[in-house]
Amino acid sequence: MTSDKKNTLFTSLANLIEIRRESLVELTQDLIKIPTLNPPGENYLEICEYLNKRLSKIGFETQIIRAKGAPGDSDKYPRWNIIGRKEGRNSGECIHFNSHTDVVEVGLGWKFDPFGGQVFEGKVYGRGACDMKGGLAASIIAVEAFLEACPEYNGAIEISGTADEETGGYGGVAYLAEKGFFSPQRVQHVIIPEPLHKDRICLGHRGGWWAEIETFGEIAHGAMPFAGDCAVRHMGEVLNEFEETLFPNLKKRVTEMPVIPEGAKNSTMNINSIHGGQVEPDPESNALPSHCVPDSCRIIIDRRFLIEENVEEVKAEIENLLEGIKSRRPKFTYEVTELNRVIPSMTDKNAPIVKSIATSIEKVIGKSPDYVASPGSYDQKHIDRIGTLKNCIAYGPGILDLAHKPDEFVVIDDMVDSAKVMGNSLIDLLTS
Ligand SMILES: [Zn+2]
Repeated sequence: MTSDKKNTLFTSLANLIEIRRESLVELTQDLIKIPTLNPPGENYLEICEYLNKRLSKIGFETQIIRAKGAPGDSDKYPRWNIIGRKEGRNSGECIHFNSHTDVVEVGLGWKFDPFGGQVFEGKVYGRGACDMKGGLAASIIAVEAFLEACPEYNGAIEISGTADEETGGYGGVAYLAEKGFFSPQRVQHVIIPEPLHKDRICLGHRGGWWAEIETFGEIAHGAMPFAGDCAVRHMGEVLNEFEETLFPNLKKRVTEMPVIPEGAKNSTMNINSIHGGQVEPDPESNALPSHCVPDSCRIIIDRRFLIEENVEEVKAEIENLLEGIKSRRPKFTYEVTELNRVIPSMTDKNAPIVKSIATSIEKVIGKSPDYVASPGSYDQKHIDRIGTLKNCIAYGPGILDLAHKPDEFVVIDDMVDSAKVMGNSLIDLLTS
């Protein structure tokens, strides 16, 4: 197809998206009204059935798949996923839109009903409006308009709604990737409509290493601490060593990845929790704690690392620091238990999906895109590592800062614009 023809096609597609503005809003509202809270992972089947109706109506072949036995899956809280595919008339490449269906807890401070999907001043409000039911709705509308404008396309289109992204994606994208749904033979381009904003392309994310560190002591009467060994004081030395050497070293490391916000361009570490000594008393109890020297103290660390770092080095750095303390502190014993690891992912800026979306942003928004990378992570890690598919980005409407906050919203105009961007890339990649 000549570029003139593609331009004409885009004009009619953009028009068809405008006509569907009301439908886009209703779809977003409907998705918000299904409270897919995770944890514990509620209503996954309901949202899959809702999406099944919508996708079947436009000719998608769908499968609803339970991630049986995946972390988080149980008979009480089954991890259901939906994946739909629609073949074009001619052979060609497959574009896959993947959205997670789960939302995080509501929290306090809402003025709007978190599951009401209320529209106010051009925005749809609710838990998941921005992260990422607005993005899911925009991708469906983009596909619906494309199918009407261009029924004789090449290749295939896939749309999936997957569980558990907010808790690691093991019962969602990771499970589907293990079953071959994200193999490069089946799918060639993946767009994850996470809320990175309509003029930004997210190329990937940093890595993460989570571990528990426990220091040990010896229990004794609190009136005679010299008769025991205080595990909390040992942990105090660990924390001190973090302050003196680890944190300053992390700050010196800067990534070449376009991570936002600026502070996340450095290596970082959070100490998520600390507990020493006896089990915390039941809040109902008013008994005083007994006088004991603690024989255990535990912390959980959340170390986010750069693509230039290696997870084994990240782990060794912590272990070496602890070994250093051990060599100069009598009776210091510890244990490190790895809880989870996520490998960084970064798609090449010249990858076909990046170039296509960049051109589409220029066409729809009238500016060159900003290239970013996420400080945390999202399901790209599973598509990259398990699926071995490298041509994947996050692109979708919504303002990242609003994700997980009270009165979360998505701007309707942004959803419409990003649907046009996605639609233009469908024309770009699936017509010839
Ligand atoms: Zn998300």
